[in-house]
Amino acid sequence: MKFGPLDDFDRELRRRVDDFFQGARLSKRDSPRMYAKSALTLAAFAALYLLLVLWSSVWWQSLPLAILLGLSTAAIGFNIQHDGGHRAYSDRPWVNKLMALSLDLLGGSSYVWARKHNSIHHSFSNITGHDDDINLGILGRLSPHQRRLWFHRLQHFYLWTFYGFLPIKWQLFDDFRDVIRGRIGEHRFARPKGWDLVTFIAGKAVFLSLAFVIPMLFHRWWVVLAVYAAAMYVQGVVLSIVFQLAHCVEEADFPMPKAETGRMETSWAAHQVETTVDFARRNRVLSWLIGGLNFQIEHHLFPQICHVHYPAIAPLVEETCREFGLRYRAHSTLRSSIASHFRWLRRMGMPDSIQPAGFLNAAPAV
Ligand SMILES: [Zn+2]
Repeated sequence: MKFGPLDDFDRELRRRVDDFFQGARLSKRDSPRMYAKSALTLAAFAALYLLLVLWSSVWWQSLPLAILLGLSTAAIGFNIQHDGGHRAYSDRPWVNKLMALSLDLLGGSSYVWARKHNSIHHSFSNITGHDDDINLGILGRLSPHQRRLWFHRLQHFYLWTFYGFLPIKWQLFDDFRDVIRGRIGEHRFARPKGWDLVTFIAGKAVFLSLAFVIPMLFHRWWVVLAVYAAAMYVQGVVLSIVFQLAHCVEEADFPMPKAETGRMETSWAAHQVETTVDFARRNRVLSWLIGGLNFQIEHHLFPQICHVHYPAIAPLVEETCREFGLRYRAHSTLRSSIASHFRWLRRMGMPDSIQPAGFLNAAPAV
């Protein structure tokens, strides 16, 4: 599927952002801040893991540690793996590869992720039938172009609890299913071969050893399963909510290709702006913790720029959007963004007959 041709907006925005980096004598990648942040995040993960396996012996020690371990795995995903997987971490390909491999350590396949996230989600954001990230199967309806089932009426309550199970399904089922079928949703991909296959298998083996085999040498099996479930549940809720706030809120569009041509009417860059929403841009602690993914418009337009630079380029992106007549949408706080996701889920779960006419994308700018 194709987008409209490269437009003046895209050209002008790239020129301005390049000028900014040149003027500030900054490199787009290999930021010292990023290396320090990665070392800190990985050290926190290792310390929490060792405390859980070697020290904790009662539930009131294990449960808080499991929650913190879940948060630290989400932080590795947001801050290290995501940049590495996008080649936004470094100019050296081996550094990006190494950072991307942190996902295998945490149970997900970096090979499958690169296809699902880089090739599919980033190309076809919010296009129903193409973007697998907005496909929850029968569990939920995230797009107005998906079929509504009667129980979606309650999805704004129950989906939050399902978000927590997604990493467990991803680690133990989805990756294997996708590799065996050679398909993610409707998109075919080349199955891993050679070193990629070795990495896929070795990654799963290392993860299963870390998550189950090693802890079971020190603790009873059901304690290990409970700690794994708690940590992954926390990770799933955090990962899913951060994703949903960028794409599944009232202010995001869900465009479809033109029926006659099968092509999108807008350019790729305009499409990224229309389907993505920023949130809590002034919250520096949140930006640090979630790898700048509250600046998702900037991430979608410049996925190969390291996330530590998003706050600096956001005003340039916003101004350029305004000049070219594109609506740049951002929630000022995390709370207003979560509330908008809740309302979007509620709208998508309602029968069409009781939705206000012209409700789609009609929410006021925030
Ligand atoms: Zn991304």
